[in-house]
Amino acid sequence: MPEPQTNCHVCDDPLDPEHVARCAVCFRQFHQKWNIHAQVPECGRPFINPETCTMGFVCRPCDERLAAEAEQDAQRQQTSYPPPA
Ligand SMILES: [Zn+2]
Ligand SMILES: [Zn+2]
Repeated sequence: MPEPQTNCHVCDDPLDPEHVARCAVCFRQFHQKWNIHAQVPECGRPFINPETCTMGFVCRPCDERLAAEAEQDAQRQQTSYPPPA
């Protein structure tokens, strides 16, 4: 069992038990605002998994990494599948 996590893995501030979510990619907990008036940082965002149509959350570092990988994939596809002349 992993150690109980008490700090946000994104910003390393103490987690607010009311405003927390678990990243679907790295499974670590981070600050997620459940109320727009809450005084907590936003360290991730909700997202919809297109394969399962379920809602999950992704932390900011994973979100940025996935976006960069998606961009690289798009570039790779462009170079490996050139459009017909
Ligand atoms: Zn945080
Ligand atoms: Zn993550």
